[in-house]
Amino acid sequence: MSRFFREGLSKLSAYTPGEQPMETNLIKLNTNENPYPPAPAVRELISKASSASALRPLNRYPEPDCGALVSALAGYHGVSRDMIAVGNGSDEILAFAFIAFGAKANAPEVSYGFYPVFGEMFSKTLNQIPLNPALEIDPADYMGLDGTIVIANPNAPTGTVLGLEDISSILGANKSNLVIVDEAYIDFGGRSAIELLAGYDNLMIIRTFSKSRSLAGLRIGYAVGSADIIADINKIKFSFNPYSLDSLAMAAAAASLKDEEYFEETVRRIMNTRDDFADKLSELGFTLLPSAANFVFARHGRLSGGECHRLLREKNILVRYFDKEPIKDYIRITIGTDEEMKAMLKATKEILNENI
Ligand SMILES: *Cc1c(COP(=O)(O)O)cnc(C)c1O
Repeated sequence: MSRFFREGLSKLSAYTPGEQPMETNLIKLNTNENPYPPAPAVRELISKASSASALRPLNRYPEPDCGALVSALAGYHGVSRDMIAVGNGSDEILAFAFIAFGAKANAPEVSYGFYPVFGEMFSKTLNQIPLNPALEIDPADYMGLDGTIVIANPNAPTGTVLGLEDISSILGANKSNLVIVDEAYIDFGGRSAIELLAGYDNLMIIRTFSKSRSLAGLRIGYAVGSADIIADINKIKFSFNPYSLDSLAMAAAAASLKDEEYFEETVRRIMNTRDDFADKLSELGFTLLPSAANFVFARHGRLSGGECHRLLREKNILVRYFDKEPIKDYIRITIGTDEEMKAMLKATKEILNENI
């Protein structure tokens, strides 16, 4: 740290992203990316980027209001255009939300690693609420809180999901608080809270193109909420970087929304692979949390999470492990293709034979 670094930030510990190795011989199951390429229309757009009519010329700044993508998203979700704000990944939208709303925030103690980082960076008093013994979010712990509430649904890295009745009761019991529902994984088996927007003006939903839409590399996220909430997010965005989303990313995101069939097919494939993989992993003696995401969270009674992570790495398989209580025993395994999961199971069998 230089002597110029702001004193108030001296305790900041930055978010640690999962490893993004350059080696190509690894089976990469560590950062919840989609194993399938983006929709054909997206690939075509990018290959023709210099001449595509759906794309603004790259010598020009992007549309500041992201109008074409906002319209496409509004149409897709059946809401009005003033209920959508887009950003450079949902991480950026989350940061804008932490800047914009309230001095206090509440989040699950085990959840997305960025929440406490943003809490620290933007000087929030962050109340971290423990999960229940089954490592689920217990809605009863979220009634009548003080400050903004941030919940990932499905939660990460655990993968469990709350039903809409639970989200509704949290919204109803916190009428004077903003409730942010981070739906990064909702397409893999949960029900979106977007349908609750008509009944609650204290709800903001955050979504991403990084997981179910195979576009992690282009950085596209968005918020859906009341026009007032969205105007606040856009006020922060225009005070920070009006061009945070580039033209190519916006055009690719809009193209992706047009191919519903490809989207549904790849999501369904990942869910089938997940359910099949979960059965086989539990046959090997692992205990898994029920997953509504594109990853599973699993532990083996006789190998720690750290050991599983290391031994798999030696066999060129990358998974994620979090060195903190109460999830030290677990590894998080992203769902790849059927072939990748087969290789993962084979390596796991070998590891169990060699070490137990
Ligand atoms: C992956 C993830 C994000 C970040 O998504 P980006 O749009 O790639 O920034 C946000 N929230 C949760 C819970 C995630 O797992």
